[in-house]
Amino acid sequence: MSDPTRPPGPRIIAIANQKGGVGKTTTAINLAAALAEEGMSVLLVDIDPQGNASTGLGFEPAQREKTTYDLLIEDADLMDVIRPTQVEGLWICPATTDLSSADIELVANEKRSFLLYDALRQPAIDSFDFDYVLIDCPPSLSLLTVNAMVAAHSVLVPLQAEFYALEGLSQLMLTIREVRQAANRDLRIEGVLLTMYDSRNNLSHQVEADARTNLGGIVYQTVIPRNVRLSEAPSYAVPVLSYDTMSKGSLAYRALAQEMLAQRND
Ligand code: ADP
Ligand code: MG
Repeated sequence: MSDPTRPPGPRIIAIANQKGGVGKTTTAINLAAALAEEGMSVLLVDIDPQGNASTGLGFEPAQREKTTYDLLIEDADLMDVIRPTQVEGLWICPATTDLSSADIELVANEKRSFLLYDALRQPAIDSFDFDYVLIDCPPSLSLLTVNAMVAAHSVLVPLQAEFYALEGLSQLMLTIREVRQAANRDLRIEGVLLTMYDSRNNLSHQVEADARTNLGGIVYQTVIPRNVRLSEAPSYAVPVLSYDTMSKGSLAYRALAQEMLAQRND
């Protein structure tokens, strides 16, 4: 980074919403790829036991030697866990289902909320010189999501443009407030992202209007359209930007990356 006023180290962003199927993983993969395309060095940390971000980038469970589980529970070296992906500038810390037992295994560990924080501050991370770390959270407000929020500078909230979309937000905001009070005073909202937007559907317009009225400036100008290419890309184990580079989904995630970079430079 050439900007001398920018704090050293990567900007760490947790992608969180306790609802499943709202576009967290799709956003993690494709925003990470779009930032990498802009020349950023990006690490995607998969902290969801379902491991969808890992599979979507071509890391099958059998290939995942050391994983986020080892990083959090076994104190593994970041260097041994992080793997390059097919996308230049994009690295991954993959996850497997063994992470699903983490909540239980960590109950008695008094540092249980700070494990990812510590892992991402290992000195080894400096040698990668990451600009961004994106954390793909599970669909819950469990200890894993709390670890992501404690480790992060900010939270990016994907919001599916559908009825009831805003209802789950109060619980998420409450968790963010609790994390601020207990562990991470400076945790910010990076932005709220409308996903699976269908411009022919009145409901999408209504949800957007409600979100912009109620949440104000934290809602990104960029909205992610419903686009079948976005749902097809993971089966080819690549981001949509590689699978269909001029698709609506690709254009939208590129626009989001640019909006995010412009905000950071403000
Ligand atoms: P989450 O990680 O929040 O559970 P996903 O990103 O896995 O959500 O998305 C849920 C499903 O919706 C996946 O099958 C994904 O491919 C699909 N999907 C996500 N975003 C879009 C979109 N903008 N257009 C079409 N399908 C999408
Ligand atoms: Mg997911």
